[in-house]
Amino acid sequence: MIRTQDVNKHFGELHVLKDITIDVPRGQVVVVAGPSGSGKSTLCRTINRLEPIDSGTIEVDGEPLPMEGKALAKLRADVGMVFQQFNLFAHKSIVDNVTLGPIKVRKKSKSAARDEAMELLTRVGIADQAEKFPAQLSGGQQQRAAIARALAMNPKVMMFDEPTSALDPEMVQEVLDVMASLANEGMTMFVITHEMGFARRAAHRVIFMDYGAVIEDTSPEEFFTNPRTERAQDFLSKIL
Ligand code: ADP
Ligand code: MG
Repeated sequence: MIRTQDVNKHFGELHVLKDITIDVPRGQVVVVAGPSGSGKSTLCRTINRLEPIDSGTIEVDGEPLPMEGKALAKLRADVGMVFQQFNLFAHKSIVDNVTLGPIKVRKKSKSAARDEAMELLTRVGIADQAEKFPAQLSGGQQQRAAIARALAMNPKVMMFDEPTSALDPEMVQEVLDVMASLANEGMTMFVITHEMGFARRAAHRVIFMDYGAVIEDTSPEEFFTNPRTERAQDFLSKIL
């Protein structure tokens, strides 16, 4: 579903992605971990072309990333993104946040989009919040709304960039539970997180990045019990 080959990117002098070659098969859940500044968010953003790359190739579902226009809009709809900051539209109700993309990009009718939005909000457990504005919801509820909004586009893959790191601790689990159920349903997921409980429970694979490079790409079991690199060992000893 996602294939990157020798991807390199610089920010000025900083070599932020170094020969990144990864392959995420359909239905796989990949957890990406690594120290702050190691390039995780940049990698995530290259995959729907929020960040251009200097060299290498990226394919989503067998197609090279489109440069612009309608094809790029379609790519962005196919690759759902959930960020640390929920990025909901503050002046729209929760249900309107969810229906906006399907109506504008997927050309759904208002009533069909609304029915589907309500189903999704039910699925993430906040149907009763549908008519409220984002600021009236807790952080955990807002993040679940952001997940519903991404799902409403019927994405091929869901990317999560530290989706729980801005949340109060008591709200982390409700978001991880929604993510775990998505994983169970077979969604292809690329999840940057330091929630190693989630990695153990839901990931098929763990990628560990450091200084812009992938230095481990292995099963969760192997990663937790037998990390090969000293840097991964050191990282785990700090967060577990
Ligand atoms: P991570 O998500 O692993 O913490 P990032 O991908 O956000 O890492 O950042 C990797 C490196 O690139 C960091 O050193 C960061 O400061 C730098 N960086 C990220 N975005 C930009 C940017 N837009 N311009 C310049 N440097 C950036
Ligand atoms: Mg980041």
